[in-house]
Amino acid sequence: MSSNSLFDRNKTVFAGGCWRDGSGQDLLKVFNPSTGEVVAKVPSGGPSDVDDAAAAAANAFGSWKSVPSVTRAGYLRAFARGLADRQEALVDVQMTVNGKPRLEAEIDVGDAIATFDYYAGLADGLDERQDAPVIHAGGEHLGRVRHEALGPVGMIVPWNFPLVTSAWKIAPALAAGCTAVMKTSEFTPLIELVYGDIAAEIGLPAGVLNIVTGGADVGIAITEAPEFRKVSFTGSNMVGAKVMQAVAKRCLPIALELGGKSPIIVTEDADLETALDCVMGGIYFNAGQMCSATSRLIVHDDLEAKLLEGLVERSRATKVASPFEEGTEMGPITTRAQFDKIREYLDQACSQGLDCLTGGKAQADCAGNFIEPTIYRNVPHEHHIWREEVFGPVLATTTFRSDEEALRIANDTRYGLVGSVVCSDPDRGKALCDGIAAGQIWLNTPQIVYPESAWGGFKASGIGRELGPWGLSGFQGVKHVTAPC
Ligand code: NAD
Repeated sequence: MSSNSLFDRNKTVFAGGCWRDGSGQDLLKVFNPSTGEVVAKVPSGGPSDVDDAAAAAANAFGSWKSVPSVTRAGYLRAFARGLADRQEALVDVQMTVNGKPRLEAEIDVGDAIATFDYYAGLADGLDERQDAPVIHAGGEHLGRVRHEALGPVGMIVPWNFPLVTSAWKIAPALAAGCTAVMKTSEFTPLIELVYGDIAAEIGLPAGVLNIVTGGADVGIAITEAPEFRKVSFTGSNMVGAKVMQAVAKRCLPIALELGGKSPIIVTEDADLETALDCVMGGIYFNAGQMCSATSRLIVHDDLEAKLLEGLVERSRATKVASPFEEGTEMGPITTRAQFDKIREYLDQACSQGLDCLTGGKAQADCAGNFIEPTIYRNVPHEHHIWREEVFGPVLATTTFRSDEEALRIANDTRYGLVGSVVCSDPDRGKALCDGIAAGQIWLNTPQIVYPESAWGGFKASGIGRELGPWGLSGFQGVKHVTAPC
């Protein structure tokens, strides 16, 4: 049994400032994907917990939106400190439950801390930025503009970066003056409960932040709760469409952070080491379980052989093992269902004769969900490995001869979340970055996301932006007041 108290939960609903038993019928089993063992069984919340939490959020809204924004900033900084104080326990949970290598688990905690600190900074000056004057033509009237909190909001998050996706919603919402009810993923229900621990510890007013564990029934209850003024969802396109339909019945604002099938373009003049780092990081970080995975490599004909040789060599040398083993670079797939889905893709690719340069299968003789780093060369552009989000360490490659062709291939997708470009010529690099239809592009750098960045997709990758000032304004309504001079 672990000595980490974050695993020992019998109360997994935080509503109205109190921990309580979940009303759900099921126990949520939490697995260690490196071994297949169950590491915790936690009671699930149910739809009635959402009702109570939404009522608590609605009750708390009036006073929370009215406290000085510097006071809200103080609470956000206290969240950041609370996370920092629990750093080691949080890293341990993510290594155990998500299978993240230590460095990646540490990056997630650092990201969540930075997000709370960043939005504390934006909240600091929020009141001062209110009532900005607007001069109207004719000189008879003067306007003033306010950015006001939308109200109580419902939030639904997935399992692949649980601490981070939740921070990206909670921090800006609370900074804006909104109150929130967040549903955690049924597969990783433990980690976000830490936000309830911290809320209780720092004396966050009751009802400002509420957390409910559970599955689709709890998610549906979030989309249906009449108290919410917005629903913010991160997850798959399939569920995102259901959330959109449910919320559309009440014509509410919605934010959707969905999937991707993102391109990485490597030109013939690219620095080889940089290209290798960017391609490897873009597909093997978090074992490829990233909405932002650059799973389609589009490399210039003249560099293909050299780049693929380096990628195969590095992929074969990547240590895939439990994060608790020394030197592990890539961990397991977090859920068995996702592991099975990836294996299906690999089996089909094999039977359809795709050119597999390395990997292409699960690790043999092992109870964990380990998939070998996999590269398919010269994948037809209509193949599902090229078009669909595999959500695993599976890279598909193709080649190009002209930049127009590279961009045409890059943009031939229903998604538009991110893109990467590796290119030594600055003008050409800029033109390629500007030509990709996606919300975040990296040039000659592995994926790094700053709190000041914008995060969100073009096309079917979503609606709205998280992070940066856009993350804050996503929880605000603009009010214009017109009065005689
Ligand atoms: P998922 O869509 O299966 O589940 C997401 C959440 O929705 C979970 O909490 C789930 O319980 C809940 N849910 C399920 N059915 C629901 C319903 N009918 N109504 C309301 N909620 C419901 O996604 P997942 O498998 O947990 O996560 C992987 C997906 O998330 C990938 O597609 C990935 O690209 C995407 N993702 C996107 C971003 C981004 O920022 N764009 C970030 C992380 C993950």
